[in-house]
Amino acid sequence: MTAHVLIRNAAELVTVRSASDGPKTGTEMAELGIIKNGALAIAGGEIIAVGETDEISAKIGRADTIIDARNRVVLPGFVDCHTHLVFGGSREDEFMQKIEGRSYLDIMQGNGGIFSTVDRTREALACPGTLIDRARMFLAKMLAFGTTTAEIKTGYGLSKESELGLLKIIAGLKESQPVEVVSTFLAAHAFPKEYEGKKGDYIGLVLGLLQRVSAEGLAEYCDVFVEAGAFSPSEARKILEQAKKQGLKLKLHAGEFNDIGGVELGVELGAVSIDHLDYISEPGMELMAEKKTIGVLLPGVPFHLMTNRYAPARKLIEAGVPIALATDFNPGSCPTLSMQMIIALACRQLKMTPAEAINAATINAAYALDRGDKVGSIEVGKRADLIILDIPNHKQLPYWFGTNLVARVIRNGVVVG
Ligand SMILES: [Zn+2]
Repeated sequence: MTAHVLIRNAAELVTVRSASDGPKTGTEMAELGIIKNGALAIAGGEIIAVGETDEISAKIGRADTIIDARNRVVLPGFVDCHTHLVFGGSREDEFMQKIEGRSYLDIMQGNGGIFSTVDRTREALACPGTLIDRARMFLAKMLAFGTTTAEIKTGYGLSKESELGLLKIIAGLKESQPVEVVSTFLAAHAFPKEYEGKKGDYIGLVLGLLQRVSAEGLAEYCDVFVEAGAFSPSEARKILEQAKKQGLKLKLHAGEFNDIGGVELGVELGAVSIDHLDYISEPGMELMAEKKTIGVLLPGVPFHLMTNRYAPARKLIEAGVPIALATDFNPGSCPTLSMQMIIALACRQLKMTPAEAINAATINAAYALDRGDKVGSIEVGKRADLIILDIPNHKQLPYWFGTNLVARVIRNGVVVG
């Protein structure tokens, strides 16, 4: 057998493989499927052999590129299943206000918060080259930090033209740089200022846009921000039901600051994931566990907002909810591109073990984007999206926080970093 790339002698080859065909839950989240002194072979962008180095070396007669992973850990590439990566401006002044003690919703009700990013994004869309270059730079940094698949939401346009403009930029990013991009339509991120007192009109605009988004294949998912001051469950229902009819898969932002019924709505409508969950009831957890709705936890948000209210990860895992992790990269509530930082926070603030956090950032995050059969683990037949970390065992991944441990990145079988 010949290979394009052979990786061998890995101190730990963390396959993350699962016994079942779905996301991991409960005690399964602690299992990593580690092969010591591991090796794997890649041909044509696909993993063709995985095992111990002796066994794989005997199988593979010739390889174009051989990578020695001695004293290193090999992992599947991270899947960042929740980001808002295309936006104008930045919000460091608001960060200063947060240091002084003002809350996110308080700042949003003033003129800051999301609306300042909406203004900067609309301005930037007039001449989108800069916005595109910046998004590509963000994705390049994500890749350097080990993310090989990233979801990107719209939601800083909040008008017909600007939401379509953002969807087109996201579509262009899929073709013009190495990270796999998944597109989500989030026009229901907030009610724009110009629709004050006319919420029904804005919902009508979103419903109309959904037809076009679906007809032109501009997004795979539709998401709604269910929160006090954003969309109520009954407003969200109108949008999500229409999105489902149009063939889009569903995601919800729920329980970021208040538990107002987003979890119940998301489970009822068959959402693939419900994201945030810093506030969630025990009956809500049971519903999610029953339907295997993935809970995407975003610990970078309470960290950056300094709210100190983190999702009850241990209770969620005990209840049987499949947990994934993501950055929520955005200029207001989580300006980090690093899944390594998120894993470090998950261990410290959510009390997840390194093994649970790694499963949540790879295979379960892949399922949160409906790609669990293609990426997220190191198994024969899966796409060769891999990272090699400069540490001798996986427990050191969250331990050395705030630094980049990635030594090599392989995306679709090609060494890209
Ligand atoms: Zn978000």
